[in-house]
Amino acid sequence: MAAMVAGALRRGSGYGSGGFRCSLRLLAQSLRRFASTLVVAEHEGGFVKPSSLSALAAAEAIAKENKISVLLGGSGPALHKAADHAASSHPLVSEVLLADSEALAHPLAEPWAELLHSVQQKGGYSHVIASSTSFGKNLLPRAAALLDVSPVTDVTAIKEPRIFVRPIYAGNALCTVKYTGEDPCMMSVRSTSFSPNTEAMSETKVAPITQVDLSFLSEGKSKWVNLTSQDTERPDLANARAVVTGGRGLKSAENFKLLEQLAEKLGAAVGATRAAVDAGYVPNDLQVGQTGKIVAPELYMAFGVSGAIQHLAGMRDSKVIVAVNKDADAPIFQVADYGLVADLFEVLDELLKKIPDKK
Ligand SMILES: Cc1cc2nc3c(=O)[nH]c(=O)nc-3n(C[C@H](O)[C@H](O)[C@H](O)COP(=O)(O)OP(=O)(O)OC[C@H]3O[C@@H](n4cnc5c(N)ncnc54)[C@H](O)[C@@H]3O)c2cc1C
Repeated sequence: MAAMVAGALRRGSGYGSGGFRCSLRLLAQSLRRFASTLVVAEHEGGFVKPSSLSALAAAEAIAKENKISVLLGGSGPALHKAADHAASSHPLVSEVLLADSEALAHPLAEPWAELLHSVQQKGGYSHVIASSTSFGKNLLPRAAALLDVSPVTDVTAIKEPRIFVRPIYAGNALCTVKYTGEDPCMMSVRSTSFSPNTEAMSETKVAPITQVDLSFLSEGKSKWVNLTSQDTERPDLANARAVVTGGRGLKSAENFKLLEQLAEKLGAAVGATRAAVDAGYVPNDLQVGQTGKIVAPELYMAFGVSGAIQHLAGMRDSKVIVAVNKDADAPIFQVADYGLVADLFEVLDELLKKIPDKK
């Protein structure tokens, strides 16, 4: 039942024997014909979140003729607006399933898992995809347990409809896994590895929106208490085009304000290492790394970050990495495109003076 580890491979190495490849091809061909995927989408402000648009791109990677259903839940006008967005978000979307209930307005895994279980029972999808966000990571194992299947997590590439690549050892090796269980094949996908199909979004057909019958939803054992978040104009860390990250080298919460100023000027998000979070300089939703957020922006600037393997796991796929550290032997320089051995406070001071304010 469980996903079988077919090989733990270094990046770019080969896979399997000739006979095995042939039977996989046959399996892949038949799956390609019958693939139908349910994408669990998250939304905000009346739009499907970029991470869920990436999940749609992953669904397309499973099969070009994939029939995709998008599941959206919550309540209020923003949900309906997001459903309209989902309906025209990808040419392969054949249906949007709208679950309108207060019980689903918050990211509680219990009611959502019940919902997913019920929708899968009715739809009989071959694949169920969620993005590897806090919500997706919370929901998927619970729903998979209800469906008695084993999920494949953190997928970064889809080789065949049931053969996936995912990182192991904090991203130091890539593992090719074959899912051998029953339908549905449930997986969480890393949004940094699947680019949304923006071209298709502008000229696509509009899929029908169907209300889901929610009479089965039970009174859950968990209750939403509240959400504490900071109001900020800065972009969301997980989807920002530029990220400015501080480590323990920043030395205080007060000094992190310098990074915030730089982020304002660059239109960037602020990130942090776990050491900086543990020291109380910034809240933990800014943590980048193995146990934090996975990011892959166009520009990643690291100040006073040593470059521990667990931190690299969350940012090494960034397009351009700039590191400032006073220790020339800091491991961050091994992944940096541009490295500056210098005191970060002097560098920040100069950058803040030279970079104009964002209009
Ligand atoms: C299971 C597990 C999961 C983990 N998950 C994560 C994770 O998700 N994310 C994460 O970040 N870490 C994670 N860690 C922690 C990780 O191992 C490191 O401890 C952490 O990343 C170190 O953070 P740092 O680079 O800020 O601190 P340090 O390692 O203390 O490095 C500080 C750096 O700042 C430099 N510096 C100091 N002063 C200055 C200055 N004035 N100018 C320039 N440079 C200066 C120093 O030379 C040093 O390189 C995890 C650890 C474990 C065991």
